[in-house]
Amino acid sequence: MSRALIIGCGGVAQVAIHKCCQLDSVFTDLCIASRTKSKCDKIKEELQNKTKTNITTKQIDANDFNALVKLFNEYKPEIVMNLGMPYQNLIIMDACLECNCHYLDTAAYEPEDVDDPTWRMNYEKRVKEKGFSAYFDYSYQWEYKDKFENKGLIALLGCGFDPGVTQAYVAYAKKHEFDRIDTIDILDCNGGDHGYPFATNFNPEINLREVSSEGAYYEDGKWHSIPAMSIHSKYNFDGVGEKDIYLLHHEEIESIAKNYPEIKRIRFYMTFGESYIRHMKCLENVGMLSTTPIEYEGKKIVPIQFLKALLPDPASLGPRTVGKTNIGCIFKGIKDGKEKTYYIYNVCDHQESYKEVGSQAISYTTGVPAMCGAMLILKKIWTTPGANTLEIYDPDPFIEALDKYGLPKRESYNPIMVK
Ligand code: NDP
Repeated sequence: MSRALIIGCGGVAQVAIHKCCQLDSVFTDLCIASRTKSKCDKIKEELQNKTKTNITTKQIDANDFNALVKLFNEYKPEIVMNLGMPYQNLIIMDACLECNCHYLDTAAYEPEDVDDPTWRMNYEKRVKEKGFSAYFDYSYQWEYKDKFENKGLIALLGCGFDPGVTQAYVAYAKKHEFDRIDTIDILDCNGGDHGYPFATNFNPEINLREVSSEGAYYEDGKWHSIPAMSIHSKYNFDGVGEKDIYLLHHEEIESIAKNYPEIKRIRFYMTFGESYIRHMKCLENVGMLSTTPIEYEGKKIVPIQFLKALLPDPASLGPRTVGKTNIGCIFKGIKDGKEKTYYIYNVCDHQESYKEVGSQAISYTTGVPAMCGAMLILKKIWTTPGANTLEIYDPDPFIEALDKYGLPKRESYNPIMVK
């Protein structure tokens, strides 16, 4: 008997809800709490006759600490799965500590208001000291390590695919394939086509903030920043074919570099089509990606939030997206004194995801790992307390769960390396 509470009811949360309900022997009771309660009620209605999970729905504003504490004290979840926005990570972690619940999320904290003077000051200092300029970084959440440890609770940070599975792949490669890892290239390919000239596959605000920022990679103990999209190459992906790949900064680089100081170079690449890049550049050039509020007809609006309202809801892309994703890690290193390369990845089909849970593969590849991570905590298979990213846990039960619940691994011992 386990009680879980999911915050958010967007693309990722809807997949996780489906998957938790498929595993009703573990997730016996599930509360879905989000800003718009009608979305929670709709999915409850869809699922309640297909599962033994007892589903409850609630309205919540995750910016309201007192409301979160009231909800957690009333519902008494063992774990809170934060599948809403990363803006609320810290406040939800505080509420979990207050109410003695485990915590899980899928994206590193970043503030909604990047003009906040206190946050800006810390940010400028970090950019100078560490050398990467993304709005997100793990320092805010790693600060909670002792607080969660002291209470014997787990805060599992970034338990989606990337971040998430990619870090478990690193732990798996180190455990089974290498004595020493020298380089990692994380490749995130979305070969899907939704038929729109421009749409994002997950929350547009977070997606566009990430993609339009400076890129960065980690090499020889240092961060190297590059102008956005200025390093690119091509890669021929299993199940997808040849795609253009662009070097981005991504949050798991920070945690992999911290947990595996032996690794000399870590890079992250994502595929983008020409139409996506052309639209994004144009929107950026006219100021639509700005996070700073502007005054319009007597009302303050944030351009990127207005743009989000215009773009298709990622949760609605399922029926029209065809093609596959391919996400994984290519390693180079040493085993038994010899040089070795290894590629571990997953291929996920948009239409198969849609048939199973009504969502496209980007939400699927994030929601399934979130369910698997929560399951391992609830079944007390992962027990190390603290605010931790996935590298520190035994990867085997997680990779086994992914194999079983929809994201099986593929491996290659002779991969083509990224040029
Ligand atoms: P969506 O925009 O589809 O969903 C966000 C949900 O959060 C919505 O239901 C929204 O409510 C709700 N929400 C927003 N603000 C609040 C609030 N203040 N209080 C309560 N609920 C709120 O996003 P996605 O599902 O696409 O993404 C979810 C998360 O997953 C994001 O953090 C994203 O960065 C992350 N992600 C991680 C990936 C990974 O591989 N690790 C990959 C893809 C995404 P409403 O319905 O009212 O808008």
